[in-house]
Amino acid sequence: MAARRGTDEATTGEGDAPRSRAMMVYRALRRAIIEQALSPGAKLPEDAIGERLGVSRTLVREALGRLAAEGLVELRHNRSAAVAYPSLEEAREVFAVRKAMERLVVEELAGRLTAEQRRRLRTHVGREDEARVRGGAESIRLAGEFHLLLAECTGNSLLIRYVNEVASRCSLILAIYGRPHSSDCAVNEHRDLIEALEKGDVPTAVRLMDHHLASVMDRALLSDRRGDDIRDVLASFAREEGLGQPPAPQVRKPRKAR
Ligand SMILES: [Zn+2]
Repeated sequence: MAARRGTDEATTGEGDAPRSRAMMVYRALRRAIIEQALSPGAKLPEDAIGERLGVSRTLVREALGRLAAEGLVELRHNRSAAVAYPSLEEAREVFAVRKAMERLVVEELAGRLTAEQRRRLRTHVGREDEARVRGGAESIRLAGEFHLLLAECTGNSLLIRYVNEVASRCSLILAIYGRPHSSDCAVNEHRDLIEALEKGDVPTAVRLMDHHLASVMDRALLSDRRGDDIRDVLASFAREEGLGQPPAPQVRKPRKAR
């Protein structure tokens, strides 16, 4: 079992026992959602979760509240909770914000990666390659963690938090609108990105990140078959076939001259 690097929350050593247990509950639920073990819309009953994880309902509620603040869980009026089910419109908003955030990340990092950071990024991409062969949840998680690792390299805590949040929401969106168990990232694109950052080539790094996230969004949102307008679903297929041109504009009759 590979040792997982502790997060800042886990290693502060400040938390008393209940606090760190709440964090463990939060992390367990968060992973289950991001790795798509818990489906979007799935109910999250406090008592069953508490029982399974061996913690009080209070701790479960605290964890659910935190996940709700991150957009991964929906709390309903009757205090029942469920895994969030973002609409297509919300999904597009999340991707737009993610794109802006990650653009900022690569602008910050180009030409400024330390040797240690380069090593960590390359090691991570190596693990993504290995996981890709096996496919499934691990591959999805590692792909998301690459983006978080990049954000961490900036050392900007606010940027880290925001990227973490939008990337988590994207995992949820992929679970709804993506193909089953599709990883959201192409590993070779991650590798190209590291190379551009090492060279300090800002325009290329920004272009690669934009392109990468646009592909992720295309993979996620164009494959939707549920609830979206059939005209939107068919648009790209029609374009490829040279079909579906909008009707030629009607020639307007000139207004009567007065
Ligand atoms: Zn990626």
